[in-house]
Amino acid sequence: MLTLDTKKYRKRALDFNKKYRQNLLNAIATKKAELGKIYPLLDDSFVDKMMLYTPKEQYKLITIALKRFSHLRDKTATESIALKYIFIENGYDKINKMEFYENFDINSCVYCNRNYIFNLYANGHVKGQIDHFYDKARYPFLAMSFYNLIPSCEGCNRIKGTYDTFRYNSLSPYVRDENRLFTIEIKSVGNFKYKLKDDAFLKKLLIEEIYNKGHIDIVDDMYEKFYQKDTREHFKLLTKEFKNLEITKEDLYRYLTNGYKHKEDFHRRTFSKLIKDISEELELIWLHL
Ligand SMILES: [Zn+2]
Repeated sequence: MLTLDTKKYRKRALDFNKKYRQNLLNAIATKKAELGKIYPLLDDSFVDKMMLYTPKEQYKLITIALKRFSHLRDKTATESIALKYIFIENGYDKINKMEFYENFDINSCVYCNRNYIFNLYANGHVKGQIDHFYDKARYPFLAMSFYNLIPSCEGCNRIKGTYDTFRYNSLSPYVRDENRLFTIEIKSVGNFKYKLKDDAFLKKLLIEEIYNKGHIDIVDDMYEKFYQKDTREHFKLLTKEFKNLEITKEDLYRYLTNGYKHKEDFHRRTFSKLIKDISEELELIWLHL
């Protein structure tokens, strides 16, 4: 999983709020009767705040909402249907997804970092998937909260399904900050296995299984490439050479590993997070870059 930075996306969140707030306010006005006691709470300033809530604030809102309005647990309750109408049918369903994606500027799935997240259609349209970290069917009032919208690949979006991240207290990509997510188990040379940190949400997303099933060749290649005595010498020389050239450490790291070095850039190329974690664990040569 990659880490997202709320501050980095603040400007986009504000633009998003500005663009879609009126849709929501109009829809709220039409559902006054159905919303009952919830209606007076959904005024302009609260809607603005809610659209910009961080995941921690979203968590708090769910806690309070379910406590005060316990019938919101029932998706068929009148209030629940009204909220769905406002925030999903007149909110999320009306987002210009293509624009959202282009503004987000993120290349690979935040959850798995193994798939690029755009689909190019024959008509030239580009569209990625957006996952609601807090499930929109359970918590429709967060369907238009910018920091609840996670750019993800089709596979992760489907695997996650309606998993209740609130109930299981999962950490949003905006909250997580793991230095080391992937480690490897070395049974013998050429017999590696990825092990992920123990986390129910990562288990749900099947990240460890998928990486072990489909991508063990990455660590095989890294080991081959950097642990052979000859190649180690070669890379040492190369590193020295590059110091004399006008090339940054980041460029050299990318050239040698095919990954990006800094966490804010991991999304630019698939597997960058894995490559960084494994290279740190194996103390490979580019650590000195
Ligand atoms: Zn994914």
